[in-house]
Amino acid sequence: MELNLVSKSSAEKFLRYFQGAGRVVLVGHANPDGDCLGCTSAMLHYLEDMGIAANVIVPGKVPEFLRFLFSERNGVHKEDALVEFDKRPEYSAELVQKADLIICMDFNALHRVDDLAGILQSASVPRLLIDHHPHPQEQDFNHILLETEISSASELTFWLIRSMNELTTIASGKKKEISMPQAVSLYTGMMTDTNNFDNSVFPSTHRMAAYLLELGVNSEAIQWAVFNSYRENRIRLIGYLTGSNMKVDYRLKAACLTLSREQQENFDFKDGDTEGVVNMPLAIKDVMISAFFTEGKTMTRVSLRAKGNFVVNAFAAKYFNGGGHPRAAGGRIQDIPFKDIEAYFFKCLAEYIGEMVIDN
Ligand code: 5GP
Ligand code: MN
Repeated sequence: MELNLVSKSSAEKFLRYFQGAGRVVLVGHANPDGDCLGCTSAMLHYLEDMGIAANVIVPGKVPEFLRFLFSERNGVHKEDALVEFDKRPEYSAELVQKADLIICMDFNALHRVDDLAGILQSASVPRLLIDHHPHPQEQDFNHILLETEISSASELTFWLIRSMNELTTIASGKKKEISMPQAVSLYTGMMTDTNNFDNSVFPSTHRMAAYLLELGVNSEAIQWAVFNSYRENRIRLIGYLTGSNMKVDYRLKAACLTLSREQQENFDFKDGDTEGVVNMPLAIKDVMISAFFTEGKTMTRVSLRAKGNFVVNAFAAKYFNGGGHPRAAGGRIQDIPFKDIEAYFFKCLAEYIGEMVIDN
């Protein structure tokens, strides 16, 4: 018998919610990444295949290179189904008001969706959660499906859909299988969140990959779309960042990258251009912690990564109003001038680790 990470009873619960729903809103976190867009796109297709109207709402910017998940290149036109909250706040609110079910995916606290949180809170319909981050805000949700020993929210969605399909197959006597747009979305989400099978890879992750490849997913085409379709600017910007804007402190075993607004303009920076760049300093032998600060209009965003034993989500929570996974976290900060941010990071880190030895 094949193992499934999502139990039949958990899948039954979701099916019961779906059976009573006519319109569903799927919500992803601010500045959505591949995992967030992959799992919401897969769930969108799943629900529409069931005859349920669905939309995906995300705050912040959608990276251009991930839009294919909602385009014809992924089987069907779904551009209209993806609603960017910052561009269409009223329409987003209208969709939430009309929905009879909300599913939050790839984040687990409502404050992660900025101004959309209030709108979600004022809707009196059930809010479900599908996520893989630790420490969910339980009071924000009516039902939670959460697994942390897993690669991604897309992998969890894969196992949920598999489990629901099994139940539907038994009930109807007709085999229900993952569709190709669902499969492509799920594979993309898992592939990006593991940084191309580099971190958070579990046996279940490879079982998922094998299953989707057997279904006919073209992994090379996805690799191409995600990792080999960048603008020249990204490569030039990476050269600049690692060449001139990276500071390494070997005493703290940490590296810091910074990108100011002025530099963003110089490189015609677009969201997604620096996707994954924060991981690069970890390739240095004695660097165990990497931070990447991007200056925004009203605040600075931080991405943190670690290898070895250092836990960045607690560090992000303490100093940068953030959180995430033990080895991949993020946050934001407002009250430190950007020119001082690098010094601030190293100061916080020194304070945080104190006498602690960072080992691998
Ligand atoms: P990234 O560096 O790719 O933006 O984020 C890495 C991880 O940290 C992701 O799992 C993301 O969900 C989490 N994360 C990023 N920003 C925040 C934040 O502001 N708050 C919390 N709680 N988690 C964040
Ligand atoms: Mn994720």
